[in-house]
Amino acid sequence: MIRSGGLVAFPTETVYGLGANGLDAEACAKIYETKGRPSDNPLILHVADYAMAKQAAAEITPMAERVLAAFAPGPVTVILPKRDEVPSKVTGGLATVGIRMPDNDVARALIRAAGTPIAAPSANRSGRPSPTTAAAVFADMDGKIPLILDGGPCRFGVESTIVDCTGERAEILRPGAVTREMLAEVLGELAPPLVFREDEAPRAPGMKYVHYAPLAPLTLIDAPRGKIGAAFRAAVREATAEGKCPGVIVSKETAEEIESLVPPEHIAVTGSAGDLSAMAANLYEALRSFDDKAATVLFAETVEEAGLGVAVMNRLKKAAGGRIRFYN
Ligand code: AMP
Ligand code: MG
Repeated sequence: MIRSGGLVAFPTETVYGLGANGLDAEACAKIYETKGRPSDNPLILHVADYAMAKQAAAEITPMAERVLAAFAPGPVTVILPKRDEVPSKVTGGLATVGIRMPDNDVARALIRAAGTPIAAPSANRSGRPSPTTAAAVFADMDGKIPLILDGGPCRFGVESTIVDCTGERAEILRPGAVTREMLAEVLGELAPPLVFREDEAPRAPGMKYVHYAPLAPLTLIDAPRGKIGAAFRAAVREATAEGKCPGVIVSKETAEEIESLVPPEHIAVTGSAGDLSAMAANLYEALRSFDDKAATVLFAETVEEAGLGVAVMNRLKKAAGGRIRFYN
């Protein structure tokens, strides 16, 4: 299907991808159309090995060599100068291309069998939470694509770390499971964290769009550990008084504290407090779990913005459209 210009959804260790031949502009146009994705939001090319990376990148910079040697295959994407063979449709008109080697047997078998780099954004409708199970792909893509490969739940659950390796210092364009600390160990000093400003053209084009949003509006609840229970009670009571029907996304510990505050089906548990891997792996399913429920507003617990917590908070803030309430 990939070779003949079709779309195939497939598992990776981060999230499920919606794949097409990355060197075929027409095939990639179908990705944009199927997702409803803005055409200036570039795609990442997935490769099976170094040889294939060189089919897409004009140059693997020394910086990228170090990143790939340390973390590929794995949840990291390097931005490199593109070869002419890569259609500008795929890169949103940029002279650079994002390349990643997924650490998932199904993904790599698919790429090898296709014999071409596979362009693949997350396999959700644009703006929705990324799918981390085949069922979540089906929910968004039923009737739109001919094939979903089911590889079970994704191990990491948040999209790859994107590192721009074209400049003087490496720059993280999107945080992920390969953390800033891990990158600094192999690269030394990195460019300071990106701050997005409304009036500037974004460096990571996709970052300007609404992302990961559940159907019911989400608000983040930020409170110190000892006061989380009280903060959720206040938020839930206020919403209920306004005639809304709240759902909550919380750690196991917070769920125990606020038991019976909302019906059990309106609580999604992401794992133990402080277990960032579990939070990352379960976040999108937790958001999606409310799609077919009666909750009309959602509240989610924040995590500390360090290590993998940077990636988790990046996704949570986007899913919440920036709505965050602080309780001290
Ligand atoms: P996804 O939507 O999960 O497939 O992620 C793709 C994201 O990678 C895009 O939204 C961009 O932010 C980023 N990206 C891909 N290619 C490039 C590139 N050449 N330069 C900068 N960012 C890129
Ligand atoms: Mg996506």
